[in-house]
Amino acid sequence: MSYMITAECVNCSACEQECPVQAISAAADQYVIDPNVCVDCEGYFEEARCKWACPVNACIPERETYLARAATMIVKGVRPVIFKNGDSVGGKVLSD
Ligand code: SF4
Ligand code: SF4
Repeated sequence: MSYMITAECVNCSACEQECPVQAISAAADQYVIDPNVCVDCEGYFEEARCKWACPVNACIPERETYLARAATMIVKGVRPVIFKNGDSVGGKVLSD
């Protein structure tokens, strides 16, 4: 399991700077975590550093239920904002 970033991300970049293995990067609409690089901070910190750093609690353990719900939102006409392994799997409702 790895950590993931939810659509609540406000692009502050705090998590990117704190990750000990450079698993976090900026994507088109928000920051994302590469699940193949994230090590859950094992061997570095007692708790996930990204979770510690995030001001809006957007860094959470990867949850298949969240990803499935976000994928469903896409079908309803939303803009993809969550990426996993390069594929869009989530979305945020557009206001315009
Ligand atoms: S849990 Fe740790 S290793 Fe994984 S993305 Fe967050 S800061 Fe990086
Ligand atoms: S710390 Fe939180 S709000 Fe800031 S870029 Fe990372 S996930 Fe987004």
